[in-house]
Amino acid sequence: MNIVILGAGLMGRLLACSLARAGHTVTVHEAAEATDRRAAAFAAAAMLAPLAESAVAEDPVVRMGQYGLTRWPELIAALDTPVFFQQQGTLVVWHRQDAADAQRFAHLLSATGQRQSGLPAPKTLDAAGLDQLEPGMGARFAQGLYLPGEGQLDNHQLMDALLAQLRRLQVTLHWGSPRSPDDFAPGQAGQPDWLLDCRGLGAKPQWPGVRGVRGEIITLHAPNVTLSRPTRLIHPRYPIYIAPKQDGYFLVGATEIESEDRSPMSVRSALELLSAAYTVDSGFGEARILDLVAQCRPTLPDNLPAVRRLGARCLQVNGLYRHGYLIAPAMLDVVLQLMQGDRSALATAFDLAVIAGDLAPTQAGHPVGAAPWPRMNSGFRELA
Ligand SMILES: Cc1cc2nc3c(=O)[nH]c(=O)nc-3n(C[C@H](O)[C@H](O)[C@H](O)COP(=O)(O)OP(=O)(O)OC[C@H]3O[C@@H](n4cnc5c(N)ncnc54)[C@H](O)[C@@H]3O)c2cc1C
Repeated sequence: MNIVILGAGLMGRLLACSLARAGHTVTVHEAAEATDRRAAAFAAAAMLAPLAESAVAEDPVVRMGQYGLTRWPELIAALDTPVFFQQQGTLVVWHRQDAADAQRFAHLLSATGQRQSGLPAPKTLDAAGLDQLEPGMGARFAQGLYLPGEGQLDNHQLMDALLAQLRRLQVTLHWGSPRSPDDFAPGQAGQPDWLLDCRGLGAKPQWPGVRGVRGEIITLHAPNVTLSRPTRLIHPRYPIYIAPKQDGYFLVGATEIESEDRSPMSVRSALELLSAAYTVDSGFGEARILDLVAQCRPTLPDNLPAVRRLGARCLQVNGLYRHGYLIAPAMLDVVLQLMQGDRSALATAFDLAVIAGDLAPTQAGHPVGAAPWPRMNSGFRELA
């Protein structure tokens, strides 16, 4: 088949790669230039933490995240270029005065564990246990939680490896080429057989419910810091995570602000992120600040992802929010199933919304929550 994909971010590249490998002729249109690394996919810390995220995410995301953790090693192994991926678990720490918040966090995780099968139980650590996992940590924190099996990957390596693969598979790539679904009539003569819209926030004109949630993140080089796994600090005002990459590089993030402002990072955010990181490991005091990034996470009204059909041969994937890397393999496999038939068994299992939409819902004027779309999966939810 002849398939056109809009957006060469995370979902666009993953889908293009899988479909080209399956023998289809794939064309990708990306609004940005090839050298532009400002998409949400490049800003992310790419932590793969279904249980840790369950404190702020609903069960469908947790289920998709569990699936993603098993699928990422396969997806990465199929690439010709290596991509850093680790599954050494997540460490969660807190200062003594924030013990009540930590207890609440632990309760939320334990409730998730009771609802969802297959999640490894969190382990409570004392100072000695912390030291065993991350030497030196026990001197700074009296207690912690360890969430086994959670992972992370290097998103820049992944995006580069996917691009190299697309070139090898002879996918046609149009950079600096913003497009909209209404530029195509999939299924008609001279038109693509399928159109896949993976534009993230760029899909907003046709899907007004899409909004951006601002996130700021800092890249540090701290060769003296030995932290080896993603570490979260519970804090009442500025909870942070530190995601180690290879060779002494760390990402410290991320703020979450209800705004589509993509202007540079504020002084307040930089101060909060850096001072919180310094309390986790004073070695960050000598780190070099390499990058301060502000980007928006593409998000739907209920903060859950969805797949939307625009006619018989156009699918839109959106709302990956703060979990894009965690759930991308699940979204990928759902879309591949939906291209084979009307329903996706995986979408039903995840309780992922598959909805039908109009090309220009703004003009059609469907009010939020009015449910103008037919139910397509048991997981149907009303979205604008
Ligand atoms: C600060 C931050 C931290 C994050 N941390 C994590 C994390 O730790 N773990 C995790 O799982 N997720 C994380 N995420 C979320 C993750 O990055 C996103 O969910 C994911 O990138 C969304 O993927 P996408 O393909 O839908 O959109 P994107 O990656 O944004 O890609 C959309 C692409 O479409 C292009 N485009 C837009 N308009 C058009 C048009 N008209 N025509 C053609 N192309 C167009 C854009 O230029 C872009 O390249 C984080 C996000 C941010 C901002």
